[in-house]
Amino acid sequence: MKQLIAFDLDGTLAESKQPLGDAMAEALTRLLGVAHVAVISGGDWPQFDKQVASRLPGEADRSRLWLMPTTGTKLYTHQEGAWTPVYAELFDDEQKRVILEAFDASLEATGFVPEQTWGERIEDRGSQITFSALGQQAPIHAKETWDPDFAKRKVIQADLHTRLPGLSINMGGATSIDITREGVDKAYGLKKLRDASGIALDAMMFIGDAIFPGGNDYPAKELGLDTVRVRDPQETLSVIDAIVACQKA
Ligand SMILES: [Mg+2]
Repeated sequence: MKQLIAFDLDGTLAESKQPLGDAMAEALTRLLGVAHVAVISGGDWPQFDKQVASRLPGEADRSRLWLMPTTGTKLYTHQEGAWTPVYAELFDDEQKRVILEAFDASLEATGFVPEQTWGERIEDRGSQITFSALGQQAPIHAKETWDPDFAKRKVIQADLHTRLPGLSINMGGATSIDITREGVDKAYGLKKLRDASGIALDAMMFIGDAIFPGGNDYPAKELGLDTVRVRDPQETLSVIDAIVACQKA
């Protein structure tokens, strides 16, 4: 018997960025009657609230629902009538200062200090820090000419790896570099869920639309969970019906 059924959100419970349909909200309510349910996705809490939390009918047993935004770097549970963050792994001010200093040192070391910058260079997205070399208000033409072929940022990235161990460093838009914790994927989130819930991984199953090599649900399978790959939310509805019937027996 599984104690917890974990789901991907977009493409699995709902169409991309859309709220749960009525049939799905009702199916999850039935499932919450027989098991714990978790939802894990890359979106942040406001997206979860809009797509999932606000869509559940009043009778749904929210005490068994685990909502994990930003790939499980945040966990929300329903406590005393409200959705409450249990934890959120954000970069703190000290880590942000270290990251900003590392960028300055890297630009200096590589000889790519921009002649001019426009506005804040660090943008805080919670569990991701985005560094814009020319500043967030830089005019388009300046952005487009600074590093069109990623050549500068490849050099900066290599230098940054030595200054920021344990962090994942990736090139983003025209002038930006994204910093996240290394190894944050759905396997990471599910291990956090195991620790927070006390439910063992082999008592969980995972349902998602991207359970294939390279898909963002694949780490759940690699972690060793029993998984079910679905094509779309319609197929998820059938899988939920089957689980509810089995758990009742
Ligand atoms: Mg998906």
